[in-house]
Amino acid sequence: MLLGPPGAGKGTQAQVIAGRLGVPAISTGDIFRANVSGQTELGLKAKVYMDAGDLVPDEVTVAMVKDRLAEPDAKGGFLLDGFPRTIPQAEQLRASLQDLGHGLDRVLELVVEEEELVRRLSGRRMLVDGEWVQREDDRPETVRHRLKVYREQTEPLSGFYEAEGLLTRIDAIGAVDEVTERALRALGWPDGGGQPDATTGQPSAG
Ligand code: AMP
Repeated sequence: MLLGPPGAGKGTQAQVIAGRLGVPAISTGDIFRANVSGQTELGLKAKVYMDAGDLVPDEVTVAMVKDRLAEPDAKGGFLLDGFPRTIPQAEQLRASLQDLGHGLDRVLELVVEEEELVRRLSGRRMLVDGEWVQREDDRPETVRHRLKVYREQTEPLSGFYEAEGLLTRIDAIGAVDEVTERALRALGWPDGGGQPDATTGQPSAG
């Protein structure tokens, strides 16, 4: 699981790390955004909260993740990005994983100071249909609110997983591949990952 404030680089790292581990990256933010674009019932419900920089209610989010974790590609493991974001979500996750016969191996917290987060989020643009656009929730006033929400509702998860002996904090300042290397090392890939073996998903020798 990747934990960390908005702008810490969770989405980018989740894609790279999941690719190296050969497991799907499950991002609740991406699932919500896909539903908003598709104008589904879930998307319409989530959009109000997302645009305001607030968290989507736990019951909506937890049910969605539960369905996603039950899909066949998650059987061999997965990387969670942006979930859980509250203590109740973490407790529900624990119960869901127990039902599925899974357990969390490790929680990586990406650490970046707040000033840098504001700089990154305010300058961030996404490529949508060939055009660079700013996410609605990356506007400066919404960014400040999202960081407050993070401090109040999500940061306590750091202590929650530390108490379970699952947490490793990683300095997430630096080039993307440097941060990836720190993350992989924390996951016990001492050579920084190497090339995963196509059949085992483990790093090959050398
Ligand atoms: P992200 O892309 O992870 O920054 O998520 C974008 C937005 O989606 C957040 O600001 C929330 O409104 C919503 N969201 C994503 N994940 C969660 C979650 N685990 N719980 C509640 N809301 C979420």
